Amino acid sequence: MIEEGRIEVYSYGEGAQHSKYVLYWMQQAQRVSYNHALNYAIDQANEYDLPLLVVFCVTPNYVGANARHYHFMLEGLAEVADTLKEKGIGFVLEKSHPVEGVLKYIKDAKMLVMDKGYLRHQRQWREELVQQIKEVVSMTAIEIDTDLIVPVTIASEKVEHAARTIRPKLWRLYPNYDHQPIQDKVKKKWKISLIKNIDRCDMTEDLIRQDYQGLIDSLGVDESVKPSKKYQGGYSKAIETLEEFFEAKLNKYKDPSPVTRNTSRMGMYLHFGQISSLEILKRLYKYVSEQKSAGNYIDQESVDGFIEQVFVRRELAYNYVYYTQGYDQFDKMTDGWAYQTMAMHRDDEREHIYTLEELIKCNTHDPYWNDAMREMVETGYMHNYMRMYWCKKILEWSPSYQEAYEHAIYLNNRYFIDGRDPNGYTGVAWCFGKHDHGWKERPIFGKLRYMNANGLKRKFKM
Ligand SMILES: Cc1cc2nc3c(=O)[nH]c(=O)nc-3n(C[C@H](O)[C@H](O)[C@H](O)COP(=O)(O)OP(=O)(O)OC[C@H]3O[C@@H](n4cnc5c(N)ncnc54)[C@H](O)[C@@H]3O)c2cc1C
Repeated sequence: MIEEGRIEVYSYGEGAQHSKYVLYWMQQAQRVSYNHALNYAIDQANEYDLPLLVVFCVTPNYVGANARHYHFMLEGLAEVADTLKEKGIGFVLEKSHPVEGVLKYIKDAKMLVMDKGYLRHQRQWREELVQQIKEVVSMTAIEIDTDLIVPVTIASEKVEHAARTIRPKLWRLYPNYDHQPIQDKVKKKWKISLIKNIDRCDMTEDLIRQDYQGLIDSLGVDESVKPSKKYQGGYSKAIETLEEFFEAKLNKYKDPSPVTRNTSRMGMYLHFGQISSLEILKRLYKYVSEQKSAGNYIDQESVDGFIEQVFVRRELAYNYVYYTQGYDQFDKMTDGWAYQTMAMHRDDEREHIYTLEELIKCNTHDPYWNDAMREMVETGYMHNYMRMYWCKKILEWSPSYQEAYEHAIYLNNRYFIDGRDPNGYTGVAWCFGKHDHGWKERPIFGKLRYMNANGLKRKFKM
């Protein structure tokens, strides 16, 4: 059973006349484990005594994506394809815009299940798809919120002011949504012959052979940002990384040092939906309880600190993009007081100004910033503390706040494996005052929170 709050009905209808399958369009939640949308689709397929087909569409020109993102995503999808096959569920990788790709499979479907997407273009795709389906056939289309612990519309009906306003709501609702989702077996196994009449652009075989480069070549993806040599995608890799984090770093998580770096590296896996935050929390609680039973020391402050990030801060970020229309536009992304203070300091003299090219070449006077940027360009990762510092410095070193914002978003989305995520839009907006409050007034920053290299040296062994 899936909690009702996760389910949104887009339309009702009988579906195709001689239905051959139930269709799940996988997009946000690229995993088999802890995927409420997949579980719901399995239940529906069993109820109608039909097999289940999962379609994933790889879009050649997905907003801002490059070879680094595609590579990581395809590594995860190869594992999804394998696991679904073992379970007797069909999987097709379509090279197509999602709306066109999914529509091809509609004429033989009993119903459509979708996972919830939170960014503007993801929401538009779902609405457009359902609209187009209505023109062809009357069909039930259901969307399931599975990438948040508490569904975004249940947690709050409005944009939240700060972590302190959403935190009590999330914790009050948590007991209603912390159930481990149960995945039934499919009763009717998938057969590829069921889609023999569909004119496909199916790349599943390449995916299963793990020919990622071939796939990337055929998609014509921007290859100027290379795949990360350090980080590998997929559910198994996510679990391995998580377990290493529990063993080696969890007890030191409360230390925010970018030097010792006691973080989980879950951001990239969460971004592609290769792991669910609910599964992370469930595994964390199990690990902590086993360690305590074995008489091992657990640093509760560190555990609580990690839960705060992966649950409260992450779900605050999703709340922000969901309810802020202009979450990616300079003049709409932050609050009135922040715009006021920026207006007052617009003409302050900037000691250093760097172009986008100089930033990408890690060519500033600040060795800490350069190192952080180099790591971002080469590996696709940067520690949370340095992300704040990195963005604050772009604000300080740009001729205008708008240019600073646009450069930060561009670099963030281009180089981070977890770029183009609600957390990224929120993290950058935070540097411009969102979810924060006014601080002591200073040149250029005005009342926006200030960060400098001396602060880094004072706090950490840089
Ligand atoms: C300027 C700036 C840009 C950022 N860009 C991105 C981005 O593009 N994509 C992205 O996923 N995150 C972004 N963040 C948020 C955060 O820095 C990363 O999620 C985190 O560093 C990822 O590394 P980790 O998984 O090792 O983090 P951990 O410290 O191990 O945290 C565990 C998880 O908690 C969540 N989390 C941690 N910090 C935050 C936060 N500040 N806000 C919301 N959720 C958080 C993430 O899901 C993270 O994976 C940005 C933050 C800032 C200040």
